[in-house]
Amino acid sequence: MKRPTTVLSLVALTASVFMAGLFDHHQRSLVDWHSVRAVAIQSDDWGLCGFVPDDAALEGLDRTALGGTHFPPVYWRSTLEDSTDVAGMTTLLLRHRGRDGMPAVFQPNMIMGFRDLDSDGHWTTGRIREGWAQGYRRPGLWVAVREAIAAGVWAPELHGFLHYDPADRDASILEGAPGVVEAARRGVLVFPGAHASFELGPVQPTTDIAPLWRSMAADQLAMFGRAPVSVVAPDYVWDDRHERMWADAGLRCVQAKRSQRRKDLGGHELWRRIRKYAERQWALWTVTDLTFLERNCRLETAQAVDAAQEARSCGDQVLQAWRGGRPAIIEAHRVNYIQTDDQAELLGRGYLDQLLTELDGQSPLYAADAELAAWTRRGVSVDRRGGSWIVRNPGPAARLAVLPTPSPATILVPPHSALRIDISTRKMIERITLH
Ligand SMILES: [Zn+2]
Repeated sequence: MKRPTTVLSLVALTASVFMAGLFDHHQRSLVDWHSVRAVAIQSDDWGLCGFVPDDAALEGLDRTALGGTHFPPVYWRSTLEDSTDVAGMTTLLLRHRGRDGMPAVFQPNMIMGFRDLDSDGHWTTGRIREGWAQGYRRPGLWVAVREAIAAGVWAPELHGFLHYDPADRDASILEGAPGVVEAARRGVLVFPGAHASFELGPVQPTTDIAPLWRSMAADQLAMFGRAPVSVVAPDYVWDDRHERMWADAGLRCVQAKRSQRRKDLGGHELWRRIRKYAERQWALWTVTDLTFLERNCRLETAQAVDAAQEARSCGDQVLQAWRGGRPAIIEAHRVNYIQTDDQAELLGRGYLDQLLTELDGQSPLYAADAELAAWTRRGVSVDRRGGSWIVRNPGPAARLAVLPTPSPATILVPPHSALRIDISTRKMIERITLH
């Protein structure tokens, strides 16, 4: 009689372990996020030559014919950042420090290419490493970005090459609806069907696009002296093939997996949902070379009905994330800080400033995705900030960390500590205890 009971218990135990895994939405982590109190900021669409070069580009155009009803109206004033914008953001971020003295880090997820339509109706494709789309010239921008990186407040990551499938834009021009060609010639990015045009849709073979992703990572290394480690797909559309492609391109973090839109799954809606859920859980258990970082705080003040309330509730969401044992990951698109309207820009930056002031008082650790992933996987992080390595071990156990180039060296990092190490001399400049 005993044996069946034992077998049944085993089955029940296995089933409950399986069910617990099924409902645990997070990868296992080596740190206790309750006590780390981490804050990361992820901001999409930087580097994008769009939606408009300036307000004048829209004069006389029929926005409805362009498909302008598919996104929040504020995007009609969304434009490419310039050097003054990045310098302004740098000043703002430097005002805010975590409990180890490190400033708030902003992660602009970047679009690395653009296309131009010339007067003969031909498209040319370019990379922002080499220039900008017509109407979007921003002299000095990359100098300002490198200064922001050196100041330790800017950590550019990847978002995509164009943000849309170029074949869709070409087709919309060929169909030639009134104003569509003119809009493209003026550098207006919006085109009919743009809202359903996905750069990483299921159509293109990854063998075609993988070299592009490797070259985008190489472009950032060449432009900023820093390779990207994190990615968010345009419009949250991607599938498993792209995750392998990203890992092969040297990326280590995938943002917003929970918001993933699977265009590669067919069949009934309910079946698609179940399969998406099951495959996500499977990825959380089994994928070890990518860390999935979920956005759990929202700071989209430019499109909020009550922007002040949006900023306050974002502060509450940060505390909620910590209480739930998660790092707080704030989503805040570029349009909140960069617009053709200077006053709107200042307003958006004011809300970010207000939120960070509130968070400073909560003794957070401001961190980049690379650090969140390193703490998750190894318990300790090494990040370059200007001329220093910042080595952080927020947990209760001593950890070994490897300082990279020029000649790798291993150091023992005491528990609850942050070290600042001079890159050229390898000497420790500062050691801070993390409470
Ligand atoms: Zn985007």
